[in-house]
Amino acid sequence: PLVVGFETSCDETGVGVVRGRTLLADALATSVAEHERFGGVVPEIASRAHLEAMVPTVHRALAEAGVAASDVDAVAVTAGPGLTGALLVGLAAAKAYALALDVPLYGVNHLAAHVAVDELQHGELAEPSLALLVSGGHSSLLLVPDLSREVTSLGRTVDDAAGEAFDKVARVLGLPFPGGPPIDRAAREGDPAAVDFPRGLTGPRDAPYDFSFSGLKTAVARWVEARQRAGEPVPVADVAASFQEAVADVLTAKAVRACRDHGVDHLVLGGGVAANSRLRALAEERCAAAGIVLRVPSPRLCTDNGAMVAALGSRLVAAGVEPSAPDLGADSSLPIEVVTP
Ligand code: ATP
Ligand code: MG
Ligand code: FE
Repeated sequence: PLVVGFETSCDETGVGVVRGRTLLADALATSVAEHERFGGVVPEIASRAHLEAMVPTVHRALAEAGVAASDVDAVAVTAGPGLTGALLVGLAAAKAYALALDVPLYGVNHLAAHVAVDELQHGELAEPSLALLVSGGHSSLLLVPDLSREVTSLGRTVDDAAGEAFDKVARVLGLPFPGGPPIDRAAREGDPAAVDFPRGLTGPRDAPYDFSFSGLKTAVARWVEARQRAGEPVPVADVAASFQEAVADVLTAKAVRACRDHGVDHLVLGGGVAANSRLRALAEERCAAAGIVLRVPSPRLCTDNGAMVAALGSRLVAAGVEPSAPDLGADSSLPIEVVTP
């Protein structure tokens, strides 16, 4: 089936086109520059930007795919989780196209879509797989018996998401927003063993699959402040590398442990933080050692985009899952277990 996917949960306006598991187009507009001076995404600005970018982005996607609107078999859209006002813009657009083209509409979970996107590059997901979902708003370990119907959460962050920690630490280091890419770049010149930052929730009595990044973030801030108070220069590259190492270490150790505990030998990474070069390398190393098959989408498909929504939509059509009702609404805190509301 030819499926168009709409993504507007945060600051990216994404429209993707896929046929089956073949990616035909992935058009993206972003309002990230408009949020930079606020140090975070401003919901009202994001909604307005989606409104302005939506129709041109759809046209761009269809042109790039070389298809006509009348060729489309189904429309998929992120129904949550995300910013309500931003989600509503995508929902309104998707409903309008579905209605005008007289094709079914699939509301999808943004987090499940972060996992589904890997199928466009590496083929059908092994089921069950384990998924490590790490993004700006979420950090979860998921057991995925059937990505079209059944996703279970094994653990999640008890405070900040991994991406949020990258964004906050970048701010402390005077690096731009969003913080993931600049920290990743700075870390290349740094020593990951320069500072031994804390690994949250890794004690013997801690929940084995939960994460905590708030203590790490605070530890970095304290360390940097102490340097500044002493009038000493802050070794940005070393701090970035050491912080990044702490995050990658905890994420990969827990993901591998969850695979082992559940007898699952396939791990897929998803979400913006999965674009991190150290996380990718360490996951590769530890999965190889543990006999786990690792799948990671290319960095561009890890961060928010429309292709991931189209990928999940296409999967739902193929699996014979019921489309959503026409009164489908946005759910800012849609639970990960609900693949399609
Ligand atoms: P969610 O998916 O939870 O709703 P989101 O949609 O805002 O959140 P994504 O686009 O999936 O998030 O991810 C954005 C996050 O990924 C940001 O916090 C950003 O700093 C982080 N990120 C992007 N690239 C990298 C990188 N190379 N290394 C580390 N983090 C990164
Ligand atoms: Mg974004
Ligand atoms: Fe996301």
